[in-house]
Amino acid sequence: MDPEEFRRAGYAVVDWIADYWSTLGQRPVVSGDPPGALAAALPAGPPVDGEPVDAVLADLDALVAPRLTHWQHPGFFGYFPANTSGPSVLGDLVSSGLGVQGMLWATSPACTELETVMMDWLAGLLDLPRRFRSDTRGGGVIQDSASSATLVATLAALHRASDGRWREAGVDRRYRAYTSTHGHSSIEKAARIAGLGADGVRAVEVDPASQAMRPAALCAAIEADRAAGEVPAIVVATIGTTSTTAVDPLPEIGAICAEYGIWLHVDAAYAGAAAVCPELRWSHAGLEFADSYCFDPHKWLLTGFDCDAFWVADRGELVEALTVMPEFLRNAATESGAVLDYRDWQVPLGRRFRALKLWFVLRWYGVEGLRAHVRRGVALAARFAGRVRADDRFELAAAHPFSLVCFRLRAADEVNAELLARVNGTGRVHLTHTRVDGRFTLRLAVGSPQTAEAHVDEAWTLLQATADDLMAT
Ligand SMILES: *Cc1c(COP(=O)(O)O)cnc(C)c1O
Repeated sequence: MDPEEFRRAGYAVVDWIADYWSTLGQRPVVSGDPPGALAAALPAGPPVDGEPVDAVLADLDALVAPRLTHWQHPGFFGYFPANTSGPSVLGDLVSSGLGVQGMLWATSPACTELETVMMDWLAGLLDLPRRFRSDTRGGGVIQDSASSATLVATLAALHRASDGRWREAGVDRRYRAYTSTHGHSSIEKAARIAGLGADGVRAVEVDPASQAMRPAALCAAIEADRAAGEVPAIVVATIGTTSTTAVDPLPEIGAICAEYGIWLHVDAAYAGAAAVCPELRWSHAGLEFADSYCFDPHKWLLTGFDCDAFWVADRGELVEALTVMPEFLRNAATESGAVLDYRDWQVPLGRRFRALKLWFVLRWYGVEGLRAHVRRGVALAARFAGRVRADDRFELAAAHPFSLVCFRLRAADEVNAELLARVNGTGRVHLTHTRVDGRFTLRLAVGSPQTAEAHVDEAWTLLQATADDLMAT
């Protein structure tokens, strides 16, 4: 494909995406096809002779699009949002076109430097503690996901807890990780990958009223482990748990970690974006205790997957834990000590130019544009919660400080599961569920930039009508 052919095909692809976005609301949010439908519609192998891009676009329309779950749909309320936006797509397109590798400063200086500056911009945007800025001992890096951020934090924590012996000797069975019973599954996965095993993770109980970690229970678990000769290595606290967006009490948890010298990682994958709004920064109180922190701009900040923003307070510990220096990567810039080499901040060696999409997003929306996006999500969630509160048949199952509402019918679990299935079966909206105090609970998470009051109201109308039917039978 020469540059002129690329230009023509590229315009057609941009048109395709723009048409997709402008017709999204008319599509069913999820596909009703059985497993294997797409695979059965595709040929068994690639074409012998090349085909034009138009032919691929035709099959995208006919075969692929009908079998998608449309995460950007205005009626998509499942899981947490995974936003994208025009500027994000365009920044990513530039990254794809450049095709540079940013593993070292020397392998593409602008790739590293733009990323460092974007992470400093984001730290300012969220008003994060000073110690995370690159002009201190700390700094930020883009990871693919919050899961990777937690893994990298766990490895740095093992490095610290073993006084650096972990790097050569590997992990022994004494190290322990702590999170609440509502901590994300990626915390246990990180512990398993790091060699602690699932048994090395202590699930600390939560306060039943707030679903947030109980500091006294954390303290007791740490004391018990120490008494048994085990070594507490890392505590992962959460701002905005996946189940209900509970906020763990960082000031108390941070003080405990400081007392015992335990690495504190704060996982704010979804709710970190809320801190762009000054009125929501209460959720980040106590973050000055954290050794590391991450949030996903790819969830609620209009930046397409993958983009996790991860900061450490002491980059030296992280780099010592993960650095590698094979002969073929030796270079004068690294040896001068004057540059950052991000390959030492992550698991893979290679890395793409993800700072571009952040740069495009931050410049297109500006601080006020991003705040408006978050505030709209919070307001729509509050509007929906108001409807739930006003209907005696329903109840709210948790507080809704951000853009997630957890609610249920005052009825048995099976009735709530049926309510969810029927409402999703309309194809107009898509909600998911969780369990709160063991009870089946529906979740409505607002976040698509296309979602407006009418879509939230439609979700409520469908829920009410379905509840009428269920209560009548
Ligand atoms: C979504 C989520 C994660 C996982 O995010 P990825 O970036 O997909 O790995 C981790 N923690 C919390 C609290 C989440 O909500």
